[in-house]
Amino acid sequence: MSVFTHPSYDGHERVVFGHDAETGLRAIIAIHNTALGPAVGGCRMWPYESDDAALEDALRLARGMTYKSALAGLPFGGGKSVIIGDSRTQKTPELMHAMGRLVDEVGGRYLVAEDVGTTVADMDIIATETKYVTGTSKSGGNPSPYTARGVFQGIRAAVEYKLRRNDGLDGIDVAIQGLGSVGYDLARRLHEAGARLHVADLNTEALNRAADEFGATRVDTHDIHAIDVDIFAPCALGGAINDRTIGDIHAQIIAGSANNQLAERRHGAELAARGILYAPDYVTNAGGIIELAYSPDFGRRHDEQAIRKHIDGLYDTLLEIFARADKANAATNEIANQMAEERFMAA
Ligand code: NAD
Repeated sequence: MSVFTHPSYDGHERVVFGHDAETGLRAIIAIHNTALGPAVGGCRMWPYESDDAALEDALRLARGMTYKSALAGLPFGGGKSVIIGDSRTQKTPELMHAMGRLVDEVGGRYLVAEDVGTTVADMDIIATETKYVTGTSKSGGNPSPYTARGVFQGIRAAVEYKLRRNDGLDGIDVAIQGLGSVGYDLARRLHEAGARLHVADLNTEALNRAADEFGATRVDTHDIHAIDVDIFAPCALGGAINDRTIGDIHAQIIAGSANNQLAERRHGAELAARGILYAPDYVTNAGGIIELAYSPDFGRRHDEQAIRKHIDGLYDTLLEIFARADKANAATNEIANQMAEERFMAA
């Protein structure tokens, strides 16, 4: 396993490998870029099949955070940490204490937050070892409604740009894949704006609730991407747009909260070639991290009005991405990357 010649290595500033013999902690902290501020990113605990797979994830996710924060206009760089292990069977308070000490040793170039396999309670433990942590129980609440607000703005921007409609979402058909914390809140916002909803989830209770509350039509999870709607909103897992699904998509717009919606980068160009407007995921789903930035962890107070204004700014960022993509005859995901690079490289 090499770092500097690793395919996912992209000039990362620091890659720290940590081991704690007493607790069995094996972790990697990857800091991609701190030009705009300290690297902020979650700590993922996952039973990686190899050290290389863990490194790959840390490098890739850290880089993604640099781009996300830069385009969200946040004073953060990009970083991520991974703990190798199964969070259901191998996570102990002692392990999280050891992780906290490792984060502390990095000295504030990286601030840790929760991610897949870690929780707010874990961040509370980490906070007893280091001040370089965010998303503890003292930091604020659930980011999902803020993420949903941003996705709603993304959908509005895409509708204005692609459907040439700036009179709201009345009568627009939206297919939502995943009615979890973000998807359900998004459904509520869209329903209130007059959109017609088509929803799929493995959880039938959420489905039934959305049908009752919003008059949503239930759709099979295998078909949700393919139905004839204006907008497809992936709000479940990553990779919704892949070689198998892309040819079946009828929507003119894709905008949702899921991370890594494109199975591969090239799928962005394929969507563009098919005339489908893709709102890049990491721009559209930045509402949660924007809210996090307004917390005492960063010396600020939770200012609801300022947070909403900042999140609503995603609308203009997306309109700019769409217009630049058209002008350059390029895919929106490529233009978003370029715009993020302009910001953190200028800094
Ligand atoms: P969640 O776990 O609350 O919800 C996910 C939902 O998707 C669940 O209801 C699950 O049953 C459903 N689901 C899983 N597989 C499915 C399938 N094949 N078809 C249909 N539904 C399926 O997660 P969340 O917090 O709502 O996040 C949703 C997505 O948005 C994730 O990709 C997450 O990484 C991303 N995201 C979330 C936030 C946030 O603030 N929560 C911020 C940024 C990105």
